[in-house]
Amino acid sequence: MTTQFMIRFGELNTKGKNKKDFINTLKRNISHSLSEINNLKIITTHDHIYVDISNIHEEDEAKVVEILKNISGIYSFAKVYVVEDFDFDKITDFVLDYINKNKTIKTFKIECRRSDKTFPLHSRDIIYKVATSILKKDLVKVDVHNPDLVINIEIHQKNMVFFFETIKGVGGYPIGTIGKSLMLISGGIDSPVASFLMMKRGVKLSFIHFASPPYTQEAVIEKIKDLLGILNTYQEKIDLYIVPFTKIQEEIYKNSDVSYAITILRRMMYKISKKLAEKLKIKSLCNGESIGQVASQTIESMDTITKGIDMTIFRPLSIMDKDDIVRIAKEIKTYDISIRPYEDCCTIFKPKNPKTMPKLDEVLFYESKVDYDSLIEEAINNIEKIEIKKEKFEI
Ligand code: ATP
Ligand code: MG
Repeated sequence: MTTQFMIRFGELNTKGKNKKDFINTLKRNISHSLSEINNLKIITTHDHIYVDISNIHEEDEAKVVEILKNISGIYSFAKVYVVEDFDFDKITDFVLDYINKNKTIKTFKIECRRSDKTFPLHSRDIIYKVATSILKKDLVKVDVHNPDLVINIEIHQKNMVFFFETIKGVGGYPIGTIGKSLMLISGGIDSPVASFLMMKRGVKLSFIHFASPPYTQEAVIEKIKDLLGILNTYQEKIDLYIVPFTKIQEEIYKNSDVSYAITILRRMMYKISKKLAEKLKIKSLCNGESIGQVASQTIESMDTITKGIDMTIFRPLSIMDKDDIVRIAKEIKTYDISIRPYEDCCTIFKPKNPKTMPKLDEVLFYESKVDYDSLIEEAINNIEKIEIKKEKFEI
């Protein structure tokens, strides 16, 4: 008998003929995410992926659970005991031993599913057979309504498995199966969460960050690298593009009314992001904006900022409250890095009264005073690309 995590795909089941590609990608992603765990084996069968943990260090098991919980495309998973020879006594022996070790268990129930309908015994016969042998020892009683222990038995073509508990996964699709997007990442709480939610939908991300040294410090880049190191647990290769933004930022503040500075600054970010995305053959942008969070995130602001950006922009956090964003940041372990103090290029020159309803004609007036096209070209030519290394996963 081996001990394995049995992975269920959920939404993947609707994908018909693409299912095979999805499963292969999911298997690759699981292998990557768990690559730091020694002696682990990944096995695929017709309808499941299994992660064999029979030979791993005991203390690594909790780590495997935490990582599997956040791998997109996994609907749920269970720690199962695999019985290759269909010997029901093995289930009974294991369960009795388990009950002996867990004295609080007084009642049980058995559920059975046969994915192999040709199996000679029906589900109800299997339940009866196993329940009878357990009851013989007189340790526990059956309670079908509110049992202390549910024993799930599944009959597959090549083996049968049993387990006590199903763990919910994050759902979505395997990263890399739905397309690509370029994420604007700052050092804050929001953009890493937005990144995670995009990845969860199966989207492979590249990242762009606007740095304005000496106003912004190198520490921000280190912070972003650390944040991406965590996201790298789930996405195999991550590229970060750093845009030198100082000159543009200085020109904005010299040549526009200070209340319009953030609007224009963000318009420049989008213009550059779109150009980089096109170069990389990426068809969409995404960010950590949330409606109403700050002056640049009112509907009017967002509209003026992205006027003329003819590219789809995803804002996965747009309708979320900060509390919920923080909760996810804590769950995916980016929160502690995000709250390290830092100066972002939007915070250093922060005007007291930024426009919440910036007018496009005013924006265009200020923009006409500077040859931004050349500055944008120059910034793009000097982008630095960094390949992110995977962080060791800590619980
Ligand atoms: P975060 O939103 O990540 O917590 P923040 O709240 O400080 O950081 P905002 O001012 O709310 O950032 O900016 C909204 C979004 O704009 C960010 O989520 C991010 O997608 C993008 N953004 C802001 N600053 C930068 C930057 N320096 N480089 C790249 N993208 C940025
Ligand atoms: Mg924000």
